[in-house]
Amino acid sequence: MSLRIDGGTVVGWSGTQHELVPDGSVLIEGDTIKSVGRARPPADRVIDASGKLVCPGFINLHVHSQMNVGDYLLTDATRGDYMFANYFVFAGLSKERMPQMPKEAVAMGRAYSQLSALRNGSTTILDPGGPPGDLDDYVAIVGRIGGRVFTSPSYRSRDTFADASGRFSYEDRADGGKSGLQAALDFVRKFNNAHGRLHAFLIPSQAETCSPALFKETMVAARELGVGVHTHAGGNLREFVDILYNHRRSPIEYLGDCGVLGPRTVLGHAVFIGGHSRVPYHSDDLALLAETGTSVGHCPYKYAKFGAALESFDRYLGRGINVGLGTDTFPFDIVAEMRWAAMISRIMEGDQRAGRAADVFNAATIGGARALGRDDLGRLAPGAKADLLVINQRDVRYGLVRDPINALVDAGCGADVETVVVAGEVVVDKGASTRVDSDAMYRDAERLARNAWDNWARRDFAGRSVDQIVPPAFPTRAS
Ligand SMILES: [Zn+2]
Repeated sequence: MSLRIDGGTVVGWSGTQHELVPDGSVLIEGDTIKSVGRARPPADRVIDASGKLVCPGFINLHVHSQMNVGDYLLTDATRGDYMFANYFVFAGLSKERMPQMPKEAVAMGRAYSQLSALRNGSTTILDPGGPPGDLDDYVAIVGRIGGRVFTSPSYRSRDTFADASGRFSYEDRADGGKSGLQAALDFVRKFNNAHGRLHAFLIPSQAETCSPALFKETMVAARELGVGVHTHAGGNLREFVDILYNHRRSPIEYLGDCGVLGPRTVLGHAVFIGGHSRVPYHSDDLALLAETGTSVGHCPYKYAKFGAALESFDRYLGRGINVGLGTDTFPFDIVAEMRWAAMISRIMEGDQRAGRAADVFNAATIGGARALGRDDLGRLAPGAKADLLVINQRDVRYGLVRDPINALVDAGCGADVETVVVAGEVVVDKGASTRVDSDAMYRDAERLARNAWDNWARRDFAGRSVDQIVPPAFPTRAS
């Protein structure tokens, strides 16, 4: 089965960089790109993309497979004591109030998040950990939604808890995290390459929740299996202080000591590192990342919500670090994320020459592919996987378009993505999934999310409601 996409401005690949091919054509055979150019070779099916942008599917290095029930609470302004609270606000639970996530809600979170990322233009996601749940079910969901997913079950050697007064503490697991690692290895051996879409990656959760022994075992296993490793690091100041006090090192130095840094490793965030303006500790972590070839999964919008920023996207690139982009929390809009990356870098540098469109587009394509160890993703070239997007920019919403990549970073959003192709198959057409009923899924997800929010007080350490944690923008009229 062959598919040809005709007539748009195609973002082709010169062999070393992206290049534009006006009135171009992409020929796909099976799951692979056969040719990119101006010729129109015969094909079984043709999609007319005249006047549109045809570009590589984006690689989103940070999509947690859950609904935004917890994410919604990330902006909890009441938890200033958590030092850029991050996930602690909803994942640091009191033992007495541990919730049992209904199986249905876990499955919906996985499906909903994968569909949302795909619809917004991420043909590949790295899932760095969702709620625990049935693993066969996860694999089936990847097959059903149709995007490419790099993951395996996350694990850790320490858990995080809050007591009744909201004090936060770590507690070591009796088995040091071994059973979690074993479950991940079993998953990798059983499901790697399931549906041609599920790709194994080991996910030790966070720098401060994994012991040196667990990290070392992880790296041995990753080398044996030939898979990459993701962990969260530099994600919040609590983590930085904990590692500094326990190991007298920065989180990045700690990971270096544990043998984690290297070309097959992706660090989620790497915001709070030695030398960051809010960190009074001056290790040269950027040199460590660059020397070891470690990649960073940069999620600028999430940190902007906290009032914090990577310092800076341009500086990391300038030091020779491979940077990819991720969304982390909702919205999973990787197109808008490029704009956040560009603009925040300009602000941090105080320089309008920073945050170039080419650099953020590269980060969302070839930077992500390099982080995942895949030179057949993130580019439209013969032999690459046929993962691509058709994006409509001819809309008064944009203004007039002189250069499509500059315009995409300046004005684009995920809703502009009309068609999504993964492995040669159209999985999103006219903005809707070709495989599942997007509207029905939204309604079901909404019901489950409302139920979780309405019952939030039962799991919050202080019994607070969602509206007490994140007050509504305006009051609701009583009658
Ligand atoms: Zn994360």
